[in-house]
Amino acid sequence: MILKLTKLLCFFGIHRYKTINIEFGFNPTDRVTTLECKNCGFTKIKADG
Ligand SMILES: [Zn+2]
Repeated sequence: MILKLTKLLCFFGIHRYKTINIEFGFNPTDRVTTLECKNCGFTKIKADG
């Protein structure tokens, strides 16, 4: 039942992200974070700075 609920949340775009990779650029503020959803495996790349 919990699995079903989490899938529903994912369906609405509410993913439970965990950080799987962080890449740094030349500047400390130049950072690209790769996030993966624990529930459905959806990945998102977040660029900071
Ligand atoms: Zn998800």
